[in-house]
Amino acid sequence: RAFNFNAGPAALPLEVLQQAQEQFVDYHGAGMSIMEMSHRSAEYEQVNNETQALMRKLFGIPDNYHVLLLQGGASTQFSMLPMNLLQPGRPGAYVMTGSWADKALKEAKLIGETAVAASSEADKFARIPNLGDIEIPAEAAYLHITSNETIEGTQYAAYPNSDHVTLVADMSSDIMCRPVDISQFGIIYAGAQKNLGPSGVTIVIARDDLVQNSPKHIPTMLRYDTHVKSSSLYNTPPSFSVYMVNLVLKWIESKGGVAQMEQYNRDKTKLIYDTIDQSGGFYRGFAHAGSRSIMNITFRIHNEELEKLFVKESEQHGFVGLKGHRSVGGLRASTYNAVPLESCKALAEFMADFQKRNG
Ligand code: PLP
Repeated sequence: RAFNFNAGPAALPLEVLQQAQEQFVDYHGAGMSIMEMSHRSAEYEQVNNETQALMRKLFGIPDNYHVLLLQGGASTQFSMLPMNLLQPGRPGAYVMTGSWADKALKEAKLIGETAVAASSEADKFARIPNLGDIEIPAEAAYLHITSNETIEGTQYAAYPNSDHVTLVADMSSDIMCRPVDISQFGIIYAGAQKNLGPSGVTIVIARDDLVQNSPKHIPTMLRYDTHVKSSSLYNTPPSFSVYMVNLVLKWIESKGGVAQMEQYNRDKTKLIYDTIDQSGGFYRGFAHAGSRSIMNITFRIHNEELEKLFVKESEQHGFVGLKGHRSVGGLRASTYNAVPLESCKALAEFMADFQKRNG
């Protein structure tokens, strides 16, 4: 297996892939694959229900929240959210933390009124804004945050106060990497393809009062209430992706749950951040210390030619996905839940060795 540090789609647990392989042709003796079955069958209904129940149990989702399994990726949520929640005179407020927050805001602007509640653009998005600097318009329909900026490698250490506003989070790149108090949020959404499974399914966790009655003019598929009423079976669901998420959730459970995941993720990323910090300036972390992500580690080498050499040699050593995103350059190691500690150890060793040879 490659040392897979891809940003997304990303590594899946080997055990999950092997289990899926075993059941691929013949799902529990049905004589067919899960993806050949009717989504109205008892077998698939079980997968749909159990996946939602596992999400609830493992992520501590209260009873007054719905778990929706949708299509269209997090990118569709960028517009579906404001379609459902914005009202005249009630803007969506956005914290600008980087590339993905920017995309979310741009889509919302197509739908209705928006406001920027805080921004770290002056610092090249290398940090999360101070929570005290967030200014929310009194009449805001919601405050939108991107809990982890996949490209810049920043992550909220604590979330903005939600006593007086509906807090909404794009958790695409850090959902279930650590426990979260769900009751702080009105809506959480995430594409599955980083921490929870393959691409194709998007998870939306939504408080009941926000998704009961979507505005009447919105197309059926883009209304939250459609999917609430049908338990995410309004139309043909991405059944194979949901099945894979089901297996990944069981894997998280077998590892001790989300709190254990966080400890594991911290142990993994410490190996790499320590290597950066102890390199005497050969490697430089991009994100400010208090905003460092435990999912995407962004760093640079003082010389771009050496960065290119690093990528090339890393590939020769079995590492995949270490080139930074084209918009920020440099290097990036994505260390999602399923990336094993052994991969991170191997990367830390490779980094130290590369420095020895080129420092
Ligand atoms: N939001 C964040 C934070 C992401 O990292 C990504 C994908 O990389 C997206 C949104 C877009 O997700 P999707 O490709 O599922 O639309």
